[in-house]
Amino acid sequence: MRIILLGGGHAHIGVLRLWAARPSCRPRGPILLADPGSEVWYSGMLPGHVAGHYPARALMIDLPRLCDRAAVTRIEAAADAVDPVRRRVRIGGAWHDFDLLSLDIGAHARLDALPGFSDHALAVKPLGTFSEGWARWLAKALPAPRVAVIGAGLGGAEIALAMAHRLGPDARVTLIEGDAQPLPGLGARARAMVVGALERRGIGILTGSAVARVEADALHLADGRIEGADLIVGAAGARPHGWLAVSGLTDARGFVPVGPTLQHPEYPHILAVGDCAEMLASPRPKAGVHAVRQGPDLAHNLAALVAGRPPRPHHPQRDFLKLVSLGERRAIALWRGLALGGAGGSALLWRLKDRIDRGFMARGRC
Ligand SMILES: Cc1cc2nc3c(=O)[nH]c(=O)nc-3n(C[C@H](O)[C@H](O)[C@H](O)COP(=O)(O)OP(=O)(O)OC[C@H]3O[C@@H](n4cnc5c(N)ncnc54)[C@H](O)[C@@H]3O)c2cc1C
Repeated sequence: MRIILLGGGHAHIGVLRLWAARPSCRPRGPILLADPGSEVWYSGMLPGHVAGHYPARALMIDLPRLCDRAAVTRIEAAADAVDPVRRRVRIGGAWHDFDLLSLDIGAHARLDALPGFSDHALAVKPLGTFSEGWARWLAKALPAPRVAVIGAGLGGAEIALAMAHRLGPDARVTLIEGDAQPLPGLGARARAMVVGALERRGIGILTGSAVARVEADALHLADGRIEGADLIVGAAGARPHGWLAVSGLTDARGFVPVGPTLQHPEYPHILAVGDCAEMLASPRPKAGVHAVRQGPDLAHNLAALVAGRPPRPHHPQRDFLKLVSLGERRAIALWRGLALGGAGGSALLWRLKDRIDRGFMARGRC
């Protein structure tokens, strides 16, 4: 059986690590992984990197080395079409046949439909492109820089806090949210604590109007407000890659639907995990934690399908501990409606987050 893994996302990294550590778990036969990058980025440490606590290399997983150790052939190119009926996928312009295909290509944060965005703004994902853009912009060392972050979800808030810390008190950082209030996905207590942290840092919050247009030095909101900015960052949620819909694999929102065994309901020889997938039986917000947790079940199911055994269901967690870094080495913990750390955060919680994140990265080096 020929297996193709598309994308070095968090779940596929777990699968590769398992096959590297325990070759007996690797299904027999040729396995190919395609990703346009030679390293993949771990998002949990991105805010710490933006804040200046971690160099870029601390967030990078060496994909060629991991593929070598897992006996997986790697193609450094992006896929742009799947033919689910003929069981083939186009990677870097060439078609490759498969018996089993697993998709873990994540999502992006580009606001392609927003006028001016692609010319004047920087999307927070893909992370590598964002890190390079941020480093280039930082090198300009503008006096009193102004940054506007589109999207006041948890990711946008964390990035804004990290930028405000890195840029210092002369900078003006503003979060822009189309909803009536920031952090729309959080409960009242958690929202109040994160908003408190943003206010302590002097981060402005503009809510209640969508962004209508982006220019080189300003954001124009639909209600007429204009926010001047030297750097505009897009952090408004996870958007599906458009080519998947063209391949006929997606739901109306553009995500790949999967059943409990992570298989596509119509094409069971296609599996999907991470942000690009939508778990029909148990939908969850897009988060790296869910992708990581899918890894062991995905590895099990690929091996089972190759061996002709039944795959097992994946049971995602209902909620998970969110550790939100506040720019400086302090963090807030959010879990099941509880919020710990206060608006000033806790150094102990940051050390816990740092330990968890470094532990995740270190597992790849074993
Ligand atoms: C600022 C920020 C902070 C975050 N913090 C957290 C956090 O603390 N905890 C948490 O759980 N989540 C966090 N997230 C969310 C997290 O980043 C995503 O949920 C997670 O990265 C999704 O993992 P994934 O496996 O779906 O894919 P990704 O990790 O996004 O990887 C996808 C891979 O696929 C590759 N790829 C893309 N297109 C193609 C293609 N066409 N062909 C082949 N390969 C392709 C990419 O190069 C990439 O290597 C954060 C997000 C942001 C923006």
